[in-house]
Amino acid sequence: MIRIGNVLVSPGEGGVYGERMIEGCRVWDPYRSKLAALIMLGGEIDLLPDMRVLYLGAANGTTASHVADYVETVYAVEFAPRPMQDLLEVARRRKNIVPIMADAGRPGEYAPFVEAVDLVYQDVAQKNQVQIALRNAAFLKEGGRLILMLKTRSVDVRMDPKDVLRETVDALSPAFRVITACWLEPYHRDHAALVCEAVK
Ligand code: SAM
Repeated sequence: MIRIGNVLVSPGEGGVYGERMIEGCRVWDPYRSKLAALIMLGGEIDLLPDMRVLYLGAANGTTASHVADYVETVYAVEFAPRPMQDLLEVARRRKNIVPIMADAGRPGEYAPFVEAVDLVYQDVAQKNQVQIALRNAAFLKEGGRLILMLKTRSVDVRMDPKDVLRETVDALSPAFRVITACWLEPYHRDHAALVCEAVK
């Protein structure tokens, strides 16, 4: 990952959402992007030029655009019409984002358009986050990884976030082995990032 000083950046054309530029690179703000937060907190994330990524919950393409600056192809799934409009505009300017309007809980709907991927990145903030991850595991290549951004309050507002995290780790096995799990504070409250490896 590219840092200029201690600022995380991505190497792409700017002007996607008003992001700052430094030395021709786009500043990737950890307060706006959970993936940037994970990287800034020391998460060992590979985003390499030959990688394909299935991105679940792409919203308006903020984080997806930074991922696309690093990798070969991003399949960006989003089901809400309003953010999808912005995502389409982002994809129009970046040839390696494939926007897919679909429910990530129904991967059969987009399976015909998606190749095997190296990474599934999920940020859907839904109660059924684990089920969505499990249903999309089939897209991963052998040894592929899942990064799950877990919004604990979406699962159960009354539960202790630590218990939600523990239950999520259990529920992801046996399809995934959790390599690391960390909280995203101070950047994002009540969010944990789980980096997992597919078990096939
Ligand atoms: N990842 C985005 C970023 O960093 O730029 C922010 C994602 S936002 C927290 C969650 C998004 O997931 C929303 O845009 C929501 O519409 C979408 N979403 C939630 N459930 C979904 C589902 N089942 N299928 C597709 N998109 C979903």
